[in-house]
Amino acid sequence: MAPAGGRRFEHELASMNFRVGATDGAARAGTLATAHGEIRTPAFMPVGTKATVKSLHPDEVRALGAQIVLGNTYHLHFRPGEEVVENLGGIHRFSGWDGPILTDSGGYQVFSLRDTITSLDDDGVTFRSVYDGSHARFTAAGVAEMQRRLGSDIAMCLDVCLPAGAPRKELERAVRLTALWAVQQAGAPRAPNQLRFGITQGGTDVELRRRSLEEIGALPFDGFALGGLAVGEEKQEMLDCVEWAAPALPAERPRYFMGIGDPVGILEVVARGIDMFDCVLPTRTARTGSALTWEGRVNLRNARHRADARPLDEECRCPACARFSRAYLRHLVTQREVLGLRLLSLHNLWFVLDLTARARAAIERGTFSSFRRDALARLAHLPEEEQ
Ligand SMILES: [Zn+2]
Repeated sequence: MAPAGGRRFEHELASMNFRVGATDGAARAGTLATAHGEIRTPAFMPVGTKATVKSLHPDEVRALGAQIVLGNTYHLHFRPGEEVVENLGGIHRFSGWDGPILTDSGGYQVFSLRDTITSLDDDGVTFRSVYDGSHARFTAAGVAEMQRRLGSDIAMCLDVCLPAGAPRKELERAVRLTALWAVQQAGAPRAPNQLRFGITQGGTDVELRRRSLEEIGALPFDGFALGGLAVGEEKQEMLDCVEWAAPALPAERPRYFMGIGDPVGILEVVARGIDMFDCVLPTRTARTGSALTWEGRVNLRNARHRADARPLDEECRCPACARFSRAYLRHLVTQREVLGLRLLSLHNLWFVLDLTARARAAIERGTFSSFRRDALARLAHLPEEEQ
């Protein structure tokens, strides 16, 4: 497939939003300018699917050190609808978060709810809404328009994301449709100063991933994502793919790994040249009553914490560890008190945001490889308890 118009786009002329300030091996520290502020990378992006990081006030999310949050076009399209958000001043005013916001296209949601898909063709995908079963259709232009009306700072392209182990024929079709739609979306109207990121697919199949990198990388996007990874494949297979695929993306654009947020995974993708990443893991783990710590995951439902006066993590300066004991947190979790999941969400997000900030500082100092080695050694300690 040739890029739109058969021309090769001049990336270096397209925009100057992203600047790499330091590199250490393949790892990079940079700055991405958006309409609602700068993001220092590497950056972990807390997920606020329905325009809220579950249970947290935007000021709390900001105080944790979050620079950007995610919203999801699929969910916001159905509830409350992009026209409602637009009429209330856009997603920033609507959600009370005045920093950068990235909206995912909804492609991941459509294709992870595969049973709801009724047809897939060159122009888009038709499916039944997960909310009420009504028929809906997403096209590249339609998703661009939804994101224009939401007014996010970074809009993602509509892509076909398949689970690991999908037949190669399906994976090939996913790569083809993702490229076709990317060309369509690249030319669609967008909100003022809205950045637009392309998404590559192809799983860990070298030939298909390479094809997708070439096709998407040739389009005039402000950033590029590795999609269709961390979808059930072996971890080492995924990292091996990132190792060659990340450097194959345009070096002067931010590189976004979609869907990683465990401490080890963050260190490993940053080491391979990834600048941005997101995952529901910190907040989802919190809602199951577990905390991310340097000693592995701590499950507060475990009776051993019943009378433990220590904080979750002695070193942590988050709002939960600053004031509360494990015994109190366990009490809240076992009694299903709302404060319990809020405090664990604050701690878990702090943990990954702090880890990412330390990684960034280490890259800037040129000490990332020793930082990563030491951090991985600590994180490799046997978990205090299994989930
Ligand atoms: Zn903490």
